Amino acid sequence: MKVKDKLKIIQGNIQEACEKSNRNPEEITVIAVTKYVTIDRAAEAVEAGVVHLGENRDEGLLAKQEVLRDKPIWHFIGSLQTRKVKNIINQVDYIHSLDRLSLAIEVNKRAQKQINCFVQVNVSGEESKQGLSYEEVTDFVMSLKDYEKIRICGLMTMAPLTANESMLRSCFRSLKELQCKIQNLKLENAPCTELSMGMSNDYMIAIEEGATMVRIGTALVGEEE
Ligand SMILES: *Cc1c(COP(=O)(O)O)cnc(C)c1O
Repeated sequence: MKVKDKLKIIQGNIQEACEKSNRNPEEITVIAVTKYVTIDRAAEAVEAGVVHLGENRDEGLLAKQEVLRDKPIWHFIGSLQTRKVKNIINQVDYIHSLDRLSLAIEVNKRAQKQINCFVQVNVSGEESKQGLSYEEVTDFVMSLKDYEKIRICGLMTMAPLTANESMLRSCFRSLKELQCKIQNLKLENAPCTELSMGMSNDYMIAIEEGATMVRIGTALVGEEE
């Protein structure tokens, strides 16, 4: 299926999720996760009107940027090794995977201008997942208040891979709750207005629970049906 047609389906689903939860679809940003697909397919997404692209590796990001240049707004969504920060930090608009102080130090050192960062939270506590635990997030954000290159624009999580809707909802709700806590700190560099949650399998539920950015790969740019 063409990206254009997949995008229409997704926009319809977003509309539906917004109606259910009394939200405005304009509050939701779709990030096309192009990590599995070719540069041509990513270009097709841009052509179809997708403005935000997400990649999880420095090589993939740089290869696509060479072709697509600065047309899209770029999101780095993968776990980020400290030594690779310098390769991508001034090439992207958002980082979704800030999860440790050593990484924050490197980002703050290498960024030429202030960069929007999401703190990645491992809400479900699964061993295989990156991110800070729920309990660690507030102290972490407070510890970054003097890092002038880092702007905590929001929180990001990956829900467990499950079809259990109540488990998914409770994961997304916890992230929303944590967002309120961070906002109450009223830190100048941590407005925390965004929630990056929801992927191909769970973005509608994530939107009902308050997502402002959904990261969609397979359902939007996947080349299989
Ligand atoms: C791959 C990936 C996605 C997109 O996954 P799909 O299930 O294909 O939509 C979203 N977020 C992160 C962090 C990813 O690594």
